[in-house]
Amino acid sequence: MKTVRSYVAGAWAEGGGKAQTLVNPATEEPVAEVAGGSIDSGDWGRVVTHARTRGGEALRALTFAERGQLVKALSKLVHANRDELIALAIANGGNTRGDAKFDIDGASGTLAAYGEVGIALGKTKFLVDGDAAQLTRSVRFVGQHIAVPRQGVAVHINAFNFPAWGMMEKAAVALLAGVPVITKPATSTALVAHRMMELVVEAKILPEGALSFVAGSVGDLLAHLGGQDVLAFTGSSDTAQMLRGQKDVVAQSVRVNVEADSLNAAVLGRDLARDSEGYSLFVADVLRDMTQKAGQKCTAIRRVLVPAEMVDAVKEDLTERLGAMKVGDPSREDVGMGPVATKKQQEDVRAGIARLREEADSVFGGDGSVAEAVGVPKGKGFFVSPVLLQVRDAKTATRVHAHEVFGPVSTLIPYSGEAKDAVAIVARGGGGLVSSVYSDDRAFLGDMAFGLAPHHGRLFLGSSKLAGHAVGPGTVLPQLVHGGPGRAGGGEELGSLRGLAFYLQRTAIAGDKPILEALFNPKSED
Ligand code: NAP
Repeated sequence: MKTVRSYVAGAWAEGGGKAQTLVNPATEEPVAEVAGGSIDSGDWGRVVTHARTRGGEALRALTFAERGQLVKALSKLVHANRDELIALAIANGGNTRGDAKFDIDGASGTLAAYGEVGIALGKTKFLVDGDAAQLTRSVRFVGQHIAVPRQGVAVHINAFNFPAWGMMEKAAVALLAGVPVITKPATSTALVAHRMMELVVEAKILPEGALSFVAGSVGDLLAHLGGQDVLAFTGSSDTAQMLRGQKDVVAQSVRVNVEADSLNAAVLGRDLARDSEGYSLFVADVLRDMTQKAGQKCTAIRRVLVPAEMVDAVKEDLTERLGAMKVGDPSREDVGMGPVATKKQQEDVRAGIARLREEADSVFGGDGSVAEAVGVPKGKGFFVSPVLLQVRDAKTATRVHAHEVFGPVSTLIPYSGEAKDAVAIVARGGGGLVSSVYSDDRAFLGDMAFGLAPHHGRLFLGSSKLAGHAVGPGTVLPQLVHGGPGRAGGGEELGSLRGLAFYLQRTAIAGDKPILEALFNPKSED
């Protein structure tokens, strides 16, 4: 059986601790082992130092354009091995082929986009931030902000749901910024990330130390981080809280970015007739987000706000489409939704549904149990049925705004149809990654956009004419920022150039105008 190992300090490493078995979540058959305690305690300092020195020095010696070429080469590598990676995602992640493509093409697409960003930045090794400002009455005394790569490592800790995209969207930005990466996938679905690491090592695209890979626990890695290092985490709020509060992380002012839970909303405007393109777009987006990756998407629509008079129609349309979806072995073409990733995940989702049902009635899917999963031995696999709920009383319901059920579960919330009411309901989620509004009424869209913007990292305005031209709100794009305030973790990733800021040190430099112009005029570096 395949062993998932760490790649640290320029070599594959396996420790002597207890190994962990990874299984196919559809059949529960073992697919790989994660080497136990993959790095001996006491060695974490060496791992960090190797990455910081060997990897960091090599990356910082390159220009943005050269680093862009490396990132682009990684994109081509992932794409060239797409079929193998898709097969692993199906086997270890419970992904349908479509789910797997979403993850793996998301990885290569984000790498390609950041490769282009780097190439466009040209031969420079630093970025100029804004124009020089005259600081006193003297025209000689000016100040200029620049941004240079931090001289540390970027520790990336990722969630189980996107092993490919999660690893590469973070790596793309850090490597382009000139910062070496130590990446750790979630253990349960680590096979895809591990294979990508093997491919990167075999292809010898990156300088030694630029990318390290930790299988299993990170031991006391975080205790070795210092003021030049950064920690980017994606996962649950509870783990985030524990990591960002670690003594050494706080004491050393390690820069931390958190991408956590989110109770993303979709709001239907009352102007959209049932036969309009905008309405169809809304239904299609809700369905996709409920079932893609079995609802294990941080951006998935969890709360569905519908004008009270339209609730029956929406229930009918969603129920009909959900009823036609086959749940089962994700390797089969006729199956629309696979299992959730682990037994623990299945238990958590089922418990979450029960919690939501204390204030909501089931419209579809009951308690989430699946009588018979298509193509799977009876009783096997971590399956959960898509579940659509409706809150009993939108005014008093609290759980739907507080508890993220990380599975194929959404809840209908009737509202008045007024923008101010919808904004107030959505804001009860305490900060989100993305919410979407479906309407052709520009005044309504404007009120919703300005009302929701303070509470979100991203908004999607779905109008009838956009149908057929857009990916839904659940797709994270490299050009747009990803992250959100409050419950969503308070972080921000991607957003083209904006994503680089986390890995760069912005420094204000004051001095004599001709000297600053000579040093920092970007044209002189082209
Ligand atoms: P999780 O249990 O918090 O785990 C996330 C990562 O943290 C895993 O790699 C895990 O490793 C690691 N970890 C756990 N304890 C740790 C510790 N003491 N020290 C260092 N690392 C530790 O979350 P999850 O179940 O994988 O992911 C589901 C959650 O992630 C959901 O709430 C979802 O909303 C959120 N999510 C957010 C985004 C976003 O972009 N905002 C994206 C995807 C998912 P092990 O697997 O080895 O335990």
